[in-house]
Amino acid sequence: MHTKKNNHQKFIEYIGKGRFVLPYCKECRKTIWPPTDNCRVCLNNLSLKNYKNKQGKILEFFLDKYNNNNANIIMILVKLDEVILIGSLHQDNTNRENIEGKKVRIKKCGFIDKKIFYQFEIVNN
Ligand SMILES: [Zn+2]
Repeated sequence: MHTKKNNHQKFIEYIGKGRFVLPYCKECRKTIWPPTDNCRVCLNNLSLKNYKNKQGKILEFFLDKYNNNNANIIMILVKLDEVILIGSLHQDNTNRENIEGKKVRIKKCGFIDKKIFYQFEIVNN
């Protein structure tokens, strides 16, 4: 039997290809998270939109203490539209400034040990 993939399956498939897409409702003009096929508000069918270059904002940041190999990795909590993601950020070595509120975008995403990872970069305006 041939079954059509739902938006959640497509989301996972895109992550595997290093792409970040989110279901978007054209009626409500909102991204829908977690990925579903229909809008929770208006029940419209959702289309997938590329969010790879979409800017998000850092809500919180902390040093990754469990990462022994690279001391410059900072873990960040990012708000990207309706979605809150946790990911890593590469900082230039001695830079220890407060990065809360800074704008970021996804540099890379994919799977490590079957878990989704997001790597961000700061967007300089
Ligand atoms: Zn809607």
